[in-house]
Amino acid sequence: MKAMRLTAWGGEPALCEVERPIPREAEVLVRVEAAGLCHSDLHVVDAAAGELPYRAPFTLGHEVAGHVAALGPDADGPAVGERVALYGPWGCGGCARCAVGRDNYCDRRGDLDWHGVGLGRDGGMAEYVLVPSARQLVPIGDLSAAQAAPLCDAGLTSYHTVAGMRHALGEGTTAVVIGVGGLGHLAVQILRATTPSRVFAVDVREEALALAEQSGAHGGTLMRSDTARVLKARTGGLGVDAVLDFVGTTATLELATEVLRSGGELALVGSGGGQLTVRKPGFLPPGLRVSLPFWGTRPELTEVIALARSGALHVETEQFPLSVAREAFGRLRGGQVRGRPVLVPA
Ligand code: NAD
Ligand code: ZN
Ligand code: ZN
Repeated sequence: MKAMRLTAWGGEPALCEVERPIPREAEVLVRVEAAGLCHSDLHVVDAAAGELPYRAPFTLGHEVAGHVAALGPDADGPAVGERVALYGPWGCGGCARCAVGRDNYCDRRGDLDWHGVGLGRDGGMAEYVLVPSARQLVPIGDLSAAQAAPLCDAGLTSYHTVAGMRHALGEGTTAVVIGVGGLGHLAVQILRATTPSRVFAVDVREEALALAEQSGAHGGTLMRSDTARVLKARTGGLGVDAVLDFVGTTATLELATEVLRSGGELALVGSGGGQLTVRKPGFLPPGLRVSLPFWGTRPELTEVIALARSGALHVETEQFPLSVAREAFGRLRGGQVRGRPVLVPA
């Protein structure tokens, strides 16, 4: 079968021919119908040898939906043909966190040489993907695979991020989303669907601000030297209650701390490598809380899929046949994609 693989660190991923896996023990083989392409895939492809704990080669693709093709002899759960999304942040499978579907915060994460499907383990940019256990599958019913796949990370991480700051997002509050790409446009929709907050977006691209508005944002502003002033003015000078940073450079972190009011919430999601100095006394807003959300939990994936099935979420996608995956990587790198690129195997 065809698979988009990271064959060596520091090189471009390549479409390779590999054996179709056979499910053993409790494993489940899923026929991939769609796989999302995340900005994290670019970070992985750009990483130098030794920067990430993964061992190359492996197949990329950590946002995956399809249907069950075959079951190992000990697998229980879904029937062959059932349509599913993959819960991707596979943990050790044995710790207290994994037992309740919080594999994203697995206690043994530091000892594993993967972060999940497509991140050190063979992923879904392929015709088939092997899943270690049926517990990593969530039924999607009649949701299209192209919608379901991006929900597995872009949707789930955004949902988990909003869930972590929900206490700060009551009536009369304001949230700012920085970076309106695959994750950000869904974060805007999730904020609108599940909180009463006013939502403002920040991006370097006008098209991304248009997507934010289409996703329900009350306004948007380009990332410029006066952005903090513009955002503060929109809150009558008070400052905002929450910032969801899907970029994570020093400039976006500084913007966040400038616009947050006392007791504000900052979630750093983007892997831009920026730094924020935490010091007391200092210049950070009093009461500031900073979180570093990583992916999301299995129950949250079920919730985000239910939200999409209810009609409250719509993933903006650009679809590409798996055979031209490299073109999709190039377009995402060039900032030319509206929403999420999705790869579809033939
Ligand atoms: P994307 O490429 O789809 O979107 C990024 C958006 O940010 C684009 O609209 C781009 O124009 C905008 N942008 C870039 N630089 C900017 C700047 N300086 N100021 C404002 N906007 C800017 O990316 P994505 O797939 O949505 O991922 C976003 C980030 O989140 C990436 O760093 C990715 O690695 C990370 N990520 C983290 C997690 C997690 O669990 N923490 C999960 C998935 C992705
Ligand atoms: Zn991702
Ligand atoms: Zn674990």
